[in-house]
Amino acid sequence: MGSAILLKTPAEMEIMREANQIVGAALKMLADRVAPGVTTLQLDEWAETFARDHGSEPAFKGYHGFPGSLCVSLNEQVVHGIPSKKVVLKDGDIVSIDFGVRYKGYYGDSAVTLPVGELPGPLSKLLTVTRESLYRGIEQVRVGNRINDISKAVQQHVEAHGFSVVRQFVGHGIGVNLHEPPEIPNYSRNEQSPRLLPGMVLAIEPMVNLGKYEVKVLADGWTVVTKDRKPSAHFEHSVAVTENGPLILSEVA
Ligand code: MG
Ligand code: MG
Repeated sequence: MGSAILLKTPAEMEIMREANQIVGAALKMLADRVAPGVTTLQLDEWAETFARDHGSEPAFKGYHGFPGSLCVSLNEQVVHGIPSKKVVLKDGDIVSIDFGVRYKGYYGDSAVTLPVGELPGPLSKLLTVTRESLYRGIEQVRVGNRINDISKAVQQHVEAHGFSVVRQFVGHGIGVNLHEPPEIPNYSRNEQSPRLLPGMVLAIEPMVNLGKYEVKVLADGWTVVTKDRKPSAHFEHSVAVTENGPLILSEVA
């Protein structure tokens, strides 16, 4: 990937809206089916079928060799969990599902963390605060603001509630590539960050840990877990920068 931020025309933006609507609708379908007893491979198969039935391809399958169509990350897993028929959802789990499609040459990308059955209070709060932090970030998507305004808003909300923000993985631009410049950290870096311009499309994706922020990658080469093995949540939307403010492409009515 080059370093230039690619701006999208209104016509490209419309295709990206359609791509992201497929992703959003897939996540909604999966949310209705998440329940104790369901395997993470079943979720993956439902997601892939949904993508293909809607004229798109699952974007993650084969991406740098990822084996699934859906990233499914349970509890202390942060992101990039591999779907498996051996992993069965159970009451009290939290499950992060991250999905992407390629549609007419453009990508969509969105994620949610869902409760399986009833959650204890602190876990429920982790999900609420992570989702809220995504929307705090999205509120900063204004022409003239900088990427760092998004980062700061996410970090402040998360840390005000005593949780921590993952540093090692960040959000990204999206378009004809799944990952494009700019990087969108969920914490403030001491550096000048790009200004937001109309036509940018940003995948904003806070990853928030109940405990400390450090993470590591498991021996499978993919699954990212918290070092302290405490739970982690992840929410993501693909958002267009417009003269009228943020347009959340992956939000379905
Ligand atoms: Mg994603
Ligand atoms: Mg993403």
